[in-house]
Amino acid sequence: MITWLNKKHTPDLGYLQWVLPLFLAATAIIFELVEHVSKDELMDAGFIGEMIIFGFMGPIIIALVLAWMRQLMDGERQATTDLQRMNRTFEHIIEERTAALEQRNAELGRANQELKRLDEMKSEFVSLVSHELRAPLTVLNGGLELALQNANSLSPGTRHTFETMTTESARLTKLVQTILDVSRLEAGKLTINPGPVAVRPLIEQAAEVILVPHNRPIEWKFSLDLPPAWMDETHMEEIVRNLLRNADKYSPTGTAFIISAVQEGEFVRISVRDHGIGVRPDFQEYIFERFGRGQISENAPPGWGLGLYFARKLIESQNGSIGVISPVWDDPDAPGSEFYLLVPIASNKEE
Ligand code: ADP
Repeated sequence: MITWLNKKHTPDLGYLQWVLPLFLAATAIIFELVEHVSKDELMDAGFIGEMIIFGFMGPIIIALVLAWMRQLMDGERQATTDLQRMNRTFEHIIEERTAALEQRNAELGRANQELKRLDEMKSEFVSLVSHELRAPLTVLNGGLELALQNANSLSPGTRHTFETMTTESARLTKLVQTILDVSRLEAGKLTINPGPVAVRPLIEQAAEVILVPHNRPIEWKFSLDLPPAWMDETHMEEIVRNLLRNADKYSPTGTAFIISAVQEGEFVRISVRDHGIGVRPDFQEYIFERFGRGQISENAPPGWGLGLYFARKLIESQNGSIGVISPVWDDPDAPGSEFYLLVPIASNKEE
């Protein structure tokens, strides 16, 4: 459009503006003279009138119209030139910006590669260290177990020391195992074998292992027609146990739990409600991050902030989700929390 309007394609009215009126004036005057001289009417009003109209006014009007058209076309030409100049400037700016963006992109790509490489190195290192720690820990655990088998022959002080060492060693072993699992999961190397899982027996057994020794009153709420969930059974058990362990850890001794499993749309919703210290709203996302801990006071229960992170990663990799609702109760001293899992139901998957 802009090219079409440019100077080469628009007629130049410079000459025409003068030549055409002069030619018309000359033609009209000659024609009038020829017509009226032969009739000897040079001085009559008709001749003078026609001379004024056709010989002068007509050509002058045409000259004015042509001058006006010329002005319009000059204006248009100027606008076209300006537009082309602007166009070129914009194209130049766009080229510059595009080049700068491409450069930034390349730099970001390189930085990203470097970060990935460092992350892989870190994961490999963590995995290696954890792996190397496992063997001595197994020896240590075995030795402690053996020593405690003869607990009766030990003095109470020595026995207590051995028991503390056993608890701490078990905790360390669990941490090393979790770190190994997390780094395997992050590297996409953790084996996942999803299948139909009977939810109720799994939860009941987990509660039996984690809660019964601590004598917790439990209120059960299971739907009667609960469908099986679709997940790796070992992972699901690990996650449920982790929720129960946390509820136990962060609630006063002897307070009750409500454990429920119901169908919610395409999911089985499993939840554990406690009467514990609850999770402040500003920590509710953070506790699912790596090393995210809500309780940071000196007398907070021991922990590493990895359990919920691992649980979230595991369940998300199997199309489920995990979340927390807190407070649950009106009591400001024990607002409690509800940790829930949404696990896809098996019937959908089998179809
Ligand atoms: P850890 O318990 O080892 O710190 P988790 O990842 O299992 O690690 O939990 C992260 C944090 O979430 C905990 O430090 C705690 O602050 C909070 N939390 C988890 N479960 C509960 C609960 N039932 N009640 C209150 N806080 C909880």
